[in-house]
Amino acid sequence: MILDGIEIAEKIGDYVQKKVAELKNSVVPSLTCVVSSNDKSTRVYLNSIKKNCDKFGINYAERSVNAEDILSEIDKLNTDRNVHGIMIMHPLPKEIDEFKVLSSVNPEKDVEGRTPQNLGMLLMGRPYFAPCTAQAVLEMLKYYEIQLRGKEVTIVGRSTTVGKPLSLLLLSEDATVTVCHSKTKDLVDKVKNADVVIAAVGKPKMFDASWFKDGEIVIDVGINVVDGKIVGDVDFDSVSKKVSVSKVPGGVGNVTSAILMRNVVNVAEMMCRR
Ligand code: NAP
Repeated sequence: MILDGIEIAEKIGDYVQKKVAELKNSVVPSLTCVVSSNDKSTRVYLNSIKKNCDKFGINYAERSVNAEDILSEIDKLNTDRNVHGIMIMHPLPKEIDEFKVLSSVNPEKDVEGRTPQNLGMLLMGRPYFAPCTAQAVLEMLKYYEIQLRGKEVTIVGRSTTVGKPLSLLLLSEDATVTVCHSKTKDLVDKVKNADVVIAAVGKPKMFDASWFKDGEIVIDVGINVVDGKIVGDVDFDSVSKKVSVSKVPGGVGNVTSAILMRNVVNVAEMMCRR
């Protein structure tokens, strides 16, 4: 089976479209990206977010900031009733303290689920906004009715945006979760002995078919650019002949983008009702 993210993203998109239409007479949902660097990959990402916002009629704005004004700019966005979602573009330049910056974002507008407050809620088993990519993986597994209770799930990658929050979401689904990283011993065994594997490493085609046994489910979170083409952490051509695997592109990334839009309209609706 190929796990397709496009279908799920379209369903979420239908919801977003409906909400934007419902709110039309009261408010236009809006997302503001706080930008502190102008590197090429940040620009590519910003363009794709803008395109998605335009598609749904969500207002898109950017604030260029530096180390001196980033906190005061975030403060303004936090209290601006016309701003519903705030995204802090990362990586931040090294002179900016990421923890301090993320801590300063109003958790109610933290549509990416990256603030310490929202990560704390997730840890307590009461997620408000979970990090979008982690949420996207869970929604893909649920969409394809992959049972998680009592299952062995191996996550390769322990970042704060993907691996760690995903481990908490999956624990809440009663999975038994193993989180692996670059210092993990016997990674091959941990991957092969799982029922479900999540690859979130950032190494193009690191996992070929020899890593998996029949019947495993593989979700590929990786987005890597090789010779101008996007590839995952999983070698899709060989792995898809052996086990069920998600596509890249057309997989987790599409669902993640749709969830971001859904979070923005949900904040707009919540603020509108106050
Ligand atoms: P990251 O912060 O660089 O984390 C990578 C993780 O992989 C780290 O925990 C690292 O271990 C581990 N790792 C690296 N090499 C390894 C190896 N040989 N064996 C085992 N573990 C290894 O990356 P990220 O932000 O989580 O992103 C991971 C991938 O997902 C990237 O390709 C990124 O582009 C993609 N991504 C996709 C989406 C989406 O929406 N689809 C969103 C975010 C990210 P250590 O902790 O020990 O260094």
